Amino acid sequence: MVLAVRREVVCAVYAKPLGYTAVIWAIGMPTMPETSYNCLMDTTEHEPFIRQCYELAQQAVAQGDHPFGAVLVKDGQVLLTAVNTIFSQRDITRHAEMNLVSQACRLLDGETLAQCTLYTSTEPCAMCTGAIFWAGIPTIVYGCDAVALGNIATGRFVVPSRELLARATRPTTVIGPVLPEEGCALHLAYWPLRYGQSLAE
Ligand SMILES: [Zn+2]
Repeated sequence: MVLAVRREVVCAVYAKPLGYTAVIWAIGMPTMPETSYNCLMDTTEHEPFIRQCYELAQQAVAQGDHPFGAVLVKDGQVLLTAVNTIFSQRDITRHAEMNLVSQACRLLDGETLAQCTLYTSTEPCAMCTGAIFWAGIPTIVYGCDAVALGNIATGRFVVPSRELLARATRPTTVIGPVLPEEGCALHLAYWPLRYGQSLAE
């Protein structure tokens, strides 16, 4: 339990004025026995895909939707991309990950989905985390984490995906945050200017 608290502190640190180094100094280096926890691991291999998600998130803003994007990757190749379309499609369920999972289920078989990684600009919400799980996609990599988004956008339903997936019988690997400063900058450039006190996704 103590370890879990430390994880949250470290994962959320970039939203604070302190840096990773300062927080590690304050609480001690956390041990990381579980494969899904990687806040301090080398995430270089994931960065190009997270950057693509950030570009997609900016495209979503350009078309009048919220700043979220996602890509589906297999063997290092991007198979599908999606953006948030909640306004352009007048459908609140059209989060980027939901759009991606819907496409993926229509176009790919279960065996292929089981070898894919879903990259997303921001840690998926409870709805999208459920959809990713039910699609059988075994790995999620996110940029900005849900707590950071909640802090910026006054989120009202913040559920870290690891907490939700911990209740599932089939394991899903969750990796992130990856390039969180860029993800936070994207949200900071959007929510306060657009809404002031706003609702995230
Ligand atoms: Zn969502």
